[in-house]
Amino acid sequence: MLPEYDVVVVGAGHAGCEAASAAARLGSKVLLVTMNMNTIAQMSCNPAMGGVAKGQIVREIDAMGGLSGIVTDETMIQFRMLNTSKGAAMWSPRAQSDRMRFAENWRMKLEAQPNIDFWQDNVVGLLLTGEAVRGVKTSLGVEISAKTVVITAGTFLNGIIHIGEKQLGGGRAAEKASVGMTEQLRSLGLTADRMKTGTPPRVDGRSLDYSRMEEQQGDAAPGKFSYTATKPLAEQRSCWITYTNETAHDILREGFEKSPMFQGRIQGRGPRYCPSIEDKITRFADKDRHQIFVEPEGWNTCEMYVNGFSSSLPEEVQLRALQQLAGFENARMFRPGYAIEYDYFPPTQLHPSLESRAVKGLYLAGQINGTTGYEEAACQGLMAGLNAHRAVQHQEAVVLQRNDAYIGVLIDDLVHKGTDEPYRMFTSRAEHRLLLRQDNADERLTPIAHRLGLADDARLAALEHKQAETKHLLKWLHQESITPAEANPYLVSAGSATLNQSCKVEVLIRRPQVTLHALQNAVEKVGEELQKFASESIAQAEIQLKYGSYLEKEAATVERVELMENRRLKDRLDYGAIKALSHEAREKLLRVQPETLGQASRIMGVSPADIAILLIHLERAAPLAQS
Ligand code: FAD
Repeated sequence: MLPEYDVVVVGAGHAGCEAASAAARLGSKVLLVTMNMNTIAQMSCNPAMGGVAKGQIVREIDAMGGLSGIVTDETMIQFRMLNTSKGAAMWSPRAQSDRMRFAENWRMKLEAQPNIDFWQDNVVGLLLTGEAVRGVKTSLGVEISAKTVVITAGTFLNGIIHIGEKQLGGGRAAEKASVGMTEQLRSLGLTADRMKTGTPPRVDGRSLDYSRMEEQQGDAAPGKFSYTATKPLAEQRSCWITYTNETAHDILREGFEKSPMFQGRIQGRGPRYCPSIEDKITRFADKDRHQIFVEPEGWNTCEMYVNGFSSSLPEEVQLRALQQLAGFENARMFRPGYAIEYDYFPPTQLHPSLESRAVKGLYLAGQINGTTGYEEAACQGLMAGLNAHRAVQHQEAVVLQRNDAYIGVLIDDLVHKGTDEPYRMFTSRAEHRLLLRQDNADERLTPIAHRLGLADDARLAALEHKQAETKHLLKWLHQESITPAEANPYLVSAGSATLNQSCKVEVLIRRPQVTLHALQNAVEKVGEELQKFASESIAQAEIQLKYGSYLEKEAATVERVELMENRRLKDRLDYGAIKALSHEAREKLLRVQPETLGQASRIMGVSPADIAILLIHLERAAPLAQS
């Protein structure tokens, strides 16, 4: 009934949407099979994109030609750049999106791609020829032929929802679980395990008293995620802040006897950095209050997301505790919070291309690989879609390195170290985070994406324009002088030493207290000149001046590390015969078969001593100059 496809993508969450879109843009004939076409690109939890390290990932997806950044820009209701008091490497964009528009926008973008077909159904297993995939079969009994399959089933595999003592089968509230797939993949030799996550209640915004909360507005000059010509927000919606208190904590504690977590009904491990409210009041028992962000779910809905109050206690306990919070005295609940347990496949079973080691042509991406978060899922989807397409074309897989992108860090961590708790990205996971900034994702990745065919000519042209502008501006800042009369009033207000004689503008910009933005407003001639440049070029010039020497040092470190990192290991050594290796290292190396020495060094259980032994054996096999 259906034709043969190059790539079948199972699941239309964040990973599935990026996977289908990437493969289709490259020219593959794609089928997107999903259980419910009304929930394409559904934000299961908070309708927010970005945040610390996650914002960098969205910028990277965009620089690679992906769509998550554009969809976010077109549907956001508030934008904030986080961590601006810290160095540029820590700046992280975050947006609150309109949940319904986000999903609709993604669907429209997918429907606009002629290479994508859609099929609403539940995939229950793979079709195989030997150890290679040849398609999928569905609960309607349809068999669909495909050269490659990308599974992005999120939290749906054998999902169980917990609210107090109630347990319901489901992949998300009001959606069915996916049953059958785990069992088949297990029979093919893959191992699966359980994880859990949770979500807070949603409340009726009309029942809240905002005068009793703190207002949190968006940035005065909102930024955006995409390097394309999407428009920044002209208008924004505010979020609100309130706090829990002792009375609320007492009510929550009363519910502990019905808690699925504390009574041992939930076995899977949850996200350490996104704990439930019951977890927080237990782990931080000395804190008498916790901050709660009250966030609108869209432009035209009164539904509010209660960020920080994730819970799986009985719904009446959740409501009674919520009603103790300032502004929530008369709160009405639309949906209770809940926890969900689901199957995931430990990602060490994957190649760095995200292809399964056990089944040729099968790719896994997103939460199914043990991650948490839309951004983490979306970037894996993009890479899996890209590599599935390349496999169909008999081209080599593309693997981003740890010094290319957070995406490289994430996939490298997953496939080499694995994870036994939901993996979310942090800046601390990236050893070269100074280079992996949100402002330069286009420089790092768009040339690569353009070569691969993922990013179009317009994207490359936009990057080249930005680079030319930055160069031009740096030249002006290098040549132009500023007099004490021009600079001193501003320097006094900025708490920076005044000038006795004229100096070059670039010298002033290197001072930590001085910013180009402030100088632009304070000194007429700087203001006049900067008007000619886009804000992204101005930011780039400033970063290069302020952090130039650190960036050069970091680049030199990357070069040194790369020498070791890129020494090829695969098929060069017989680990079983190297007796000096620890038993654990030998076993892991045999199982993972790392491509390079760098990858071997990140396998859990392979120690620096084991790496030194491998180096000696590599030198014997092929000295550095030849490898
Ligand atoms: P999903 O977005 O889950 O999408 C999976 C898709 O696959 C769905 O469209 C589904 O219909 C489809 N599907 C599944 N099985 C099949 C099948 N057999 N056949 C056809 N289609 C199938 N992330 C955070 O960053 N912070 C949070 O606080 C947070 N809380 C969460 C709370 C809850 C309750 C849930 C469910 C998720 C939460 N997440 C949170 C995680 C975030 O939602 C996911 O990381 C992200 O959505 C994963 O994207 P994905 O594409 O991998 O899967």
